[in-house]
Amino acid sequence: MLNFYILLPAHPFQSIQKALRNCGSTVILNKFGFFSFILMFNFFIAFHLVMCYNISYETICSEADVMAESNEMYKKKTADKNNRPQFPKRAVITGGMPYGNKTLHFGHVGGVFVFADVYARFLRDRIGKENVIFVSGTDCYGSPIAEGYRKACAEQGFTGTIRDYVQRNHDAQKKTLDDYDISLDLFGASALGDTAEWHNKVSDAFIRKLYEMGHLKKISTAQFYDEKAGMFLNGRQVIGKCPVQGCQSEKGYADECDLGHQYNPINLIDPKSTLTGETPVMKDVVNWYFKLPDYNDLLKEMASEMEKQDNIRPVVTKTVKEFLEPPVIYIMNDYMDTYKELAPQMAEHELIVEPKKTSFTIVFKELSQRDDACKLLNEHHVRFREGKTLVPFRLTGNIEWGVPAPELEGEKGLTVWVWPESLWAPISFTVAYLASQGRDTEEWRKYWCDPDAKVYQFIGQDNIYFYCVAQTAMWMSFQGEKLEDMSPTDTKGHLTMPVPVANHHILFLDKKASSSGSVKPPMAADLLDYYTAEQLRMHWLGLGLGMRSVSFQPKPLNPNAKPEDSDPVTKEGFLLSNVFNRVIRTCFYDVQKYYDGVMPVGEVSESVIADSEKAILEYERFMYKTEFHQVTYVLDSYIRKASKYMAKAKSEADKSDDDALRRRYLIDTFHMIKTAAVLLHPLAPKGTEMVRDYMNLDESVWSWDHIFDTLQTICGGDRKLKFLEPKVDFFKRHPSQFKAE
Ligand SMILES: [Zn+2]
Repeated sequence: MLNFYILLPAHPFQSIQKALRNCGSTVILNKFGFFSFILMFNFFIAFHLVMCYNISYETICSEADVMAESNEMYKKKTADKNNRPQFPKRAVITGGMPYGNKTLHFGHVGGVFVFADVYARFLRDRIGKENVIFVSGTDCYGSPIAEGYRKACAEQGFTGTIRDYVQRNHDAQKKTLDDYDISLDLFGASALGDTAEWHNKVSDAFIRKLYEMGHLKKISTAQFYDEKAGMFLNGRQVIGKCPVQGCQSEKGYADECDLGHQYNPINLIDPKSTLTGETPVMKDVVNWYFKLPDYNDLLKEMASEMEKQDNIRPVVTKTVKEFLEPPVIYIMNDYMDTYKELAPQMAEHELIVEPKKTSFTIVFKELSQRDDACKLLNEHHVRFREGKTLVPFRLTGNIEWGVPAPELEGEKGLTVWVWPESLWAPISFTVAYLASQGRDTEEWRKYWCDPDAKVYQFIGQDNIYFYCVAQTAMWMSFQGEKLEDMSPTDTKGHLTMPVPVANHHILFLDKKASSSGSVKPPMAADLLDYYTAEQLRMHWLGLGLGMRSVSFQPKPLNPNAKPEDSDPVTKEGFLLSNVFNRVIRTCFYDVQKYYDGVMPVGEVSESVIADSEKAILEYERFMYKTEFHQVTYVLDSYIRKASKYMAKAKSEADKSDDDALRRRYLIDTFHMIKTAAVLLHPLAPKGTEMVRDYMNLDESVWSWDHIFDTLQTICGGDRKLKFLEPKVDFFKRHPSQFKAE
């Protein structure tokens, strides 16, 4: 399940950005007569504004160099041909699971899917496309869907079945993903078609196996019950305030809030039924739970393993560790006297009172002791909040719209809770994909369980608990019946620990915005009225969401933007549509003018080879670490260098009308064009495919088996290029951006 939230915290760079926006951009005319826009470059922490008139290529390039050098991260990390990162032999990429109650908003695509897609495309080039499977799908079940369907029927006159309702949203999601060139091998749906059949089978087998190995237990809990409606209430059928310490969410559902915090339903503050508006009562129900608290030590081990891996972001391990704390309760200081009276009735615990804090903390050894204490505090109307800790992970529920759960110990009529089944859904989708290709479905193990393979899961930071705590513990439990036989680094063919790639929040216009709030985030599909998919892809990749939350500020949707402001969204795209387009076109036109359309091929200058190798190795290293913004800096610097080199060398050749110099500049620049195109291929697939097509190269040019090769090796000799008409763009601008000129 992929939840997406847009949060309020004021963007730390807001004021700087405003200042920059006010400065605007400058149009310059360079010596080749093309218009260029020198826009704002946002380099990591330092923002740098370039305003220039009649600037030369040299100045442009040295500015770019200075900015790249000013990036501390960039400087520290040196790449080395003899010390390259290791990639797996096979890989699965998963891109969260968008929920099936609506179409995709920009955060789904710009916060998760573009990153997953770039990584899948990169790995296809890097390790071979037959070794990569990229899957995702619509998360179809659960109470929000049932609620959404109920509303669609009642308020919008929807007349289909609940499956029709989900199908409609799934189709719209798939279209949007296609429009953004998200290259999923399979975009399934947990309740629809073949993928649903596989998913039901996998879910049944998964739960039975966990049960047989003794990793499940039955727990009776109190569930909300609406007496007026005469039914149990699930998830979003109840709304109140989140009881987790420090959380301000007013959208606390039955047992989790909209920010992903989980809690005991009994602790939800001010619960109300969404069906009748009544305060629900609590009734006991039995469900199956995975014994998650038993995995505390193993998860600690896993967290320290994760810390050793330089391709796992710090936010992941930090968040995982928060859940490995002992069970604590935070109580407001006002209730100190009541607490003191009740304390003797509680299990042994530690009291922590810190000066200047508005609450004090009590720490228990066991979760059950804390649960008893919570009950006691509730009975005496004490306001408190629970700290994060491991709690049993619920696998089943009684909502009708769900995957049927196997009947165990005579417990009938249960369905699988939507979160756990969404965790193993990518396995179901992998199986469904293999089946659709006529491959042996058992091959899924070669991707999910083989030490030579890796699973990369692209998620939002809110979902780290589910993917990196609950899921990893469940994966480990398949290693056997006893905890002492399990290890996070097991290599005996059980489910391997995935590489989580967690992004921070993508904000919208620095403001709190949610699909139900007053500031509506744009739908992903609507943004394509203003930008090309490639422009948006390049922009989102450059934001640095791996490190911090960043605001998305599209000028056409920003009511505070002034007409003279430049649009921050197009700056990365203009690197391609202005600088790189110009480099490629200039070379093509010279080949057509002087060599009858035959590209001269020969030995590339040593300095060009060296610069290209450096860019390739740095790019590879940043890709390995999923530092996508750094990848965009490498490309920016390399393409500007190519532009600078070309300008200088071409001008010398033109001045002396020297054929040898002209051949030299074309051979060198085409090597840089080819190298940049391969590196850009995962980021800007359409434009780079067009470059390949016009250069008459076959698809093997994308393979990293040839990444350092020159065109002499690849082509053998001079090569006829496709004829390029005047003013043709490889990297497009959106039609709306031409009108603005
Ligand atoms: Zn919360």
